[in-house]
Amino acid sequence: MKLKKQFLFFLTILSAFLCFSVSAFAADELLKPEELTSYNVENGIKLKWKKNKSAEKYVIYRKNSKKWEKLFSTEKAYYTDKEVSDGKLYEYKVRAIYQEGKSDYCYTSYRFLKAPQVISAVNSKNGITVTWEECDFATSYRLLRKKQGDKKWKAIKVLSSEKTSYTDTKAENGVKYFYTLRQINGEYKSTYLTNTKAKTYTATVDNLSVKNSPDGITLRWKKGEDVKSYVIYRRVQSGKWKKLASLKGSKTKYIDKTAVYGKKNTYKIRIVSLKKISSDYCSSVSVYGVNPKKPMLALTYDDGPSSSATNSILDTMKKYSARATFFVVGSRVEMYLSCLIRQAELGCEIGCHTYNHTILTSASDSVIRNEISKTNALVEKISGQKVRLVRAPGGSANSRVLSAAGYPFIQWNVDTRDWEHRNSSKVISSVKNSASDGAIILMHDLYPSTASATKSFVPYLIEKGYQLVTVSEMFDAKGLSLAGGRMYYRA
Ligand code: ZN
Repeated sequence: MKLKKQFLFFLTILSAFLCFSVSAFAADELLKPEELTSYNVENGIKLKWKKNKSAEKYVIYRKNSKKWEKLFSTEKAYYTDKEVSDGKLYEYKVRAIYQEGKSDYCYTSYRFLKAPQVISAVNSKNGITVTWEECDFATSYRLLRKKQGDKKWKAIKVLSSEKTSYTDTKAENGVKYFYTLRQINGEYKSTYLTNTKAKTYTATVDNLSVKNSPDGITLRWKKGEDVKSYVIYRRVQSGKWKKLASLKGSKTKYIDKTAVYGKKNTYKIRIVSLKKISSDYCSSVSVYGVNPKKPMLALTYDDGPSSSATNSILDTMKKYSARATFFVVGSRVEMYLSCLIRQAELGCEIGCHTYNHTILTSASDSVIRNEISKTNALVEKISGQKVRLVRAPGGSANSRVLSAAGYPFIQWNVDTRDWEHRNSSKVISSVKNSASDGAIILMHDLYPSTASATKSFVPYLIEKGYQLVTVSEMFDAKGLSLAGGRMYYRA
């Protein structure tokens, strides 16, 4: 009995062993496709696995709405499914077929993402701007760049899905670049586009400055590299851009003798490189044309802004296409933001009258500098206009103040004393009696009397042939410089 039990036990072990080796043998023979992977290629999803010599072929299935459908059978160890649409996730299974039978399935899945099309690569102000078509399923884009002559692509930027353009600001002047990109959706990636766009970067004109001069409106810029020609364009007010001139690459100056006086003349320049590639236009710069041969004067208003007086004066300026200079008090600026914006829009000049209306002769050097810089930063932020001029409160300045400030100080040669008498007819007669070419007239945009006087003397002065210009325009048109640390009473 005991022996029989031992024998049975032996049989059990033996059969277990046999069973195991048979199943191990079968598993080895009918090996599933190993290392199955899938990824995007240009025209579909490619499946790849390791070839097993004893397999006769492989059968590939794809899941279509919960049902597995046979796609293809092949002796090769790869297959590309070209029946795919952008953004869709596909599930596949593959099994190997042997003489002895079929293996189990191996599974893989991938989302098809087609490579985005680069639409354009163009020269822009700061580099080459690459634009591509928007991909509906992208969560990000990866942009690559290659210099002409380079073998390898370099990744330059990963961009979020809302972006469809990028400006490569690291492009060097005269160098040709190629661009390509892929779209990414989570863990899935499209291929990089093979049909790439190329562009040779041509830098735009740097530092264009435009101002009135006794000869006409003078344009100056920094000399560029490899320039064949500069092409200059102008528009008057909001009219159409017109080509004015094409200059040799050695030039850095142009005088527009056909500028329209009394109107806003805006200029922009584009470069044509020695390789004959056009740059983008530089940022446009505007100036009101002042006829240097006709009389002009500068109306100046201090101590503002204030809501009613400043706006009434601006209404008059707008009505007669005249311009004035406003020396603003920094602490008032934030209360009257819209006044500053209007002043800049109408071509008026904004100067500094300190932050707290501080008498500068009794202030320390650091207070002087702070009073001015605080005001100017605010003005520049709000109006976009750079402050060139300072007027000292009370006109009080001495050589210490002038050198601490470092700005041109603008005094006056006509004092209407409008703050004292606040009488409209006195302001009018003061202006009428002392108007002269190059005059700087002092007033204050705080008083209704000054605003109503302005309404009356502006048409009178225009009738008398005066151009009503800003202080800077007047000095520029007369060819006079405004130097830091100096005082000016008239032009
Ligand atoms: Zn003042």
